[in-house]
Amino acid sequence: MNQLEQAKLEVIEYANRMLTEGLVKGTSGNVSVRVGDQVAITPGSVPYPEITPDRVAIVDLDGNHLAGGNPSSETPLHTLVYRETDAAAVVHTHSIYATTLACTVDELPAVHYMIHAFGGDTVDVSDYERFGSDELAAAVHKALGDRRGVLLRNHGAVVHGPTNALLNPASVDAQADATTADAVLRELPAPGRLVYRRVLEPRYRKRQLWAA
Ligand SMILES: [Zn+2]
Repeated sequence: MNQLEQAKLEVIEYANRMLTEGLVKGTSGNVSVRVGDQVAITPGSVPYPEITPDRVAIVDLDGNHLAGGNPSSETPLHTLVYRETDAAAVVHTHSIYATTLACTVDELPAVHYMIHAFGGDTVDVSDYERFGSDELAAAVHKALGDRRGVLLRNHGAVVHGPTNALLNPASVDAQADATTADAVLRELPAPGRLVYRRVLEPRYRKRQLWAA
């Protein structure tokens, strides 16, 4: 099996994992895997359990359709991340916690040690742009910076990794979940503040979710 065929199977596997882990509903969200100058990406509007290898869309790094099904409407977002970073895989979800936070905060603070999986002490929230637009792709890229995760204003989350072996969109949800709880507890005194400081301790910063 060549690498592109392997990538198609990985797209199908990750897409179905997103569904079973509750990170997306219906046909929302999308997954892609890069192979050289080609990208295998979930097709638009096809229920995940019905995606077969020949229905996975193949596009080039500019998003031009090369083969397979109709590429996801968020293809511009995926291909921009590939053009500008070392990403080998990109995942976009509409998970409940991440989307709720993306509607309510301007920045995800370090309330959970998983924040370090994204390469910094915070995760940014992008400006709002219409789904599927080049403007959204640009806004996401700007907010992403050198991190591996970003929240999309009033929309969802995007994560990417240099290897798809440990790509875990659930980690964004864990972070968002913890932040939601923190928002509820924010008015409580000392203990919560103490956790804030401890999450930023050097030993937690060493955590590397993306290591191959
Ligand atoms: Zn979306």
